[in-house]
Amino acid sequence: MSSSTTTARVAYIVSAQLIKIASLLPSNKKRSFVVHSLIKSLGLLEPGKVQIYTPRNATRQDLAMYHASGYLEFILDPKNCNEHDEHRHGASEREAMKVEYGLEDDCPLFTGLSDYVTLVAGATLTAVDALRYDISDIAINWDGGRHHASKSRASGFCYVADCVLAILALKSIPRPPSKANEPTKPLPRVLYLDLDLHFSDSVSAAFTIHHTSPGFFPVSPKAELPDPSTPRFDPFSLSIPLREGASNKTYCAIWSIVEELKDIMMPDFIVIQCGTDALAGDPCAILNWSLGGGEGSLGWCVSRIINEWKGKKLFLGGGGYNSANAARAWAYITSVALGNPLDLEAHIPDHPGFPLYAPSFTLDVPAGNMRDQNSPEYLHTIKTRFDKVIPLVRQRMGCV
Ligand SMILES: [Zn+2]
Repeated sequence: MSSSTTTARVAYIVSAQLIKIASLLPSNKKRSFVVHSLIKSLGLLEPGKVQIYTPRNATRQDLAMYHASGYLEFILDPKNCNEHDEHRHGASEREAMKVEYGLEDDCPLFTGLSDYVTLVAGATLTAVDALRYDISDIAINWDGGRHHASKSRASGFCYVADCVLAILALKSIPRPPSKANEPTKPLPRVLYLDLDLHFSDSVSAAFTIHHTSPGFFPVSPKAELPDPSTPRFDPFSLSIPLREGASNKTYCAIWSIVEELKDIMMPDFIVIQCGTDALAGDPCAILNWSLGGGEGSLGWCVSRIINEWKGKKLFLGGGGYNSANAARAWAYITSVALGNPLDLEAHIPDHPGFPLYAPSFTLDVPAGNMRDQNSPEYLHTIKTRFDKVIPLVRQRMGCV
């Protein structure tokens, strides 16, 4: 889809099994059920409106595009994931492996983990297939977006790096020539845009807008403002770190940077990680973004991406620890993708998750009363830094 006047073909990835398995994630228990129930109750999944795809399970080969074999061997063995089963490894060896692979603290082993890994990654790869084989213009997997898992380590509630797998898969097929006798085009360009509260440390070539402060998870020099004067500067891995209380006004102030970089990169595919933990009302309580409310809101940013940006889009979930607010945001984004945005003042329909939407029982996620600590001076610092970064990106893309 390249124009707002064309109705996009939208693939939505869901199945009863995906909901059951994704709802097991210890950090987001039952969130998958809450999200898909709301979206269904709003009539967004009716036949004719959307292409519903049952996710396939990722194969070991799919997962090995990125993950290390030892990690996969451990995590894909259901016996290793169930504390009560007999294990292939001795107790002390298993404990050592759990530590090595990050399977403790915020990433505990749980029964069903091996199915979770293959099905969540498979759901993202099912969405990728719908885009790269030109069946769809927009594909959605709200159970994906796990941006902290690394090659051989679970981290930050993430066990499988489906964002990375999606980027690798999207880049793996050369674009066909548009005319006969034309040489095959270079590999597709993929822009990864991360809107989660947290920095996307596992996705190395990322453009991420997030919160960072000393000691805030995940600690990484790449989470800071890019500095072209340092040797580690990478024009293809850019961050806009925001300070506490970031509101629509702050997102609006930085959005032109996002758009300018998108224009330079001219991506064929855009992968958008839509974690909702930057929204007001999230238990993280760091930023103060809202779903509606005009310019700079999550709804406004996503509407621009869907209606104005060229290229095929893959929407993935991510963080978001207020399940009802994640459901509200993802339902609204789904409706924008379908070309018929819901009214944010609309009442939540009666459905199994209804009580979770108290006290407003409406779709909007309004801002709270946190003070926005992104001062005009700080926003100016971001802009002047990107004034230096943008020409370098342009140069690397051969645009000068
Ligand atoms: Zn997050």
